[in-house]
Amino acid sequence: MARVLAITNQKGGVGKTTTSVNLGASLATAGKRVLLLDLDPQGNATMGSGIDKRSLPATVYQVLLGTKSAGAVRVKSPKGAYDVLPANRELAGAEIEMVDLSHREMRLKTALAEIRDEYDFILIDCPPALNLLTVNALCASDAVMIPMQCEYYALEGLSDLVNTIKKVRSKLNPHLEIDGLLRTMFDPRNTLGQQVSDQLQQHFGDKVYRTVIPRNIRLAEAPSHGTPVLAYDRQSKGALAYLALAGEVVSRQSKVE
Ligand code: ATP
Ligand code: MG
Repeated sequence: MARVLAITNQKGGVGKTTTSVNLGASLATAGKRVLLLDLDPQGNATMGSGIDKRSLPATVYQVLLGTKSAGAVRVKSPKGAYDVLPANRELAGAEIEMVDLSHREMRLKTALAEIRDEYDFILIDCPPALNLLTVNALCASDAVMIPMQCEYYALEGLSDLVNTIKKVRSKLNPHLEIDGLLRTMFDPRNTLGQQVSDQLQQHFGDKVYRTVIPRNIRLAEAPSHGTPVLAYDRQSKGALAYLALAGEVVSRQSKVE
């Protein structure tokens, strides 16, 4: 049964989507069966996987509202050996429409149950908010991956996220754990970045992935070509870093089992 990972941080622009797309493509390259679930109305993970968000017959929106099944809505990425449960701006309405529905926090978990057996990993690209969509992701997940930039305010936002995870754990999903904290867009020449990175390791120990994602122009360029970096520049530092992260995520999974 798939290990479900929510890739989340309420802070915007920290590398959630870049991580979801490239970790997904890397796990697929390693022979794992992967579903990338786009849970952000921005639809960036959808576009970054080579799927046009404007011309979709159905999206994760219908899945959450229960009018379509996850199996019927998923599509194959034309740029990697993984499936995508796509999203676009209509998902923004789900937040409000779900409020009156029963078990509103559990809708994604319920919807994924029928296809969970078909994958080794389901990665959920979360929106930059601690909203009902993100709570649905946390309830549907086994563990959380937190991408973060090593900058001054990074640690401040982290405590809000950790508190939300604790709340979800106590009320809704007792098994939810933190898979790891991922340092993204890292520049070794930046002294403050080094200091924050050291602090992270002191506070969170081996919860910090050994793999560090460097700032790499190829990672930023690939989405404009609608592709994960692996299909764009396989030898780039960014591509190699996400392959290494995939190896680490797989070895953490085997420790859990
Ligand atoms: P949002 O909160 O809006 O969903 P996000 O957390 O998903 O943002 P991304 O969209 O992955 O963040 O990244 C933000 C920007 O930084 C994008 O333009 C992306 O291409 C760029 N970027 C991400 N990671 C890297 C990297 N390692 N090196 C260079 N650029 C990067
Ligand atoms: Mg994003």
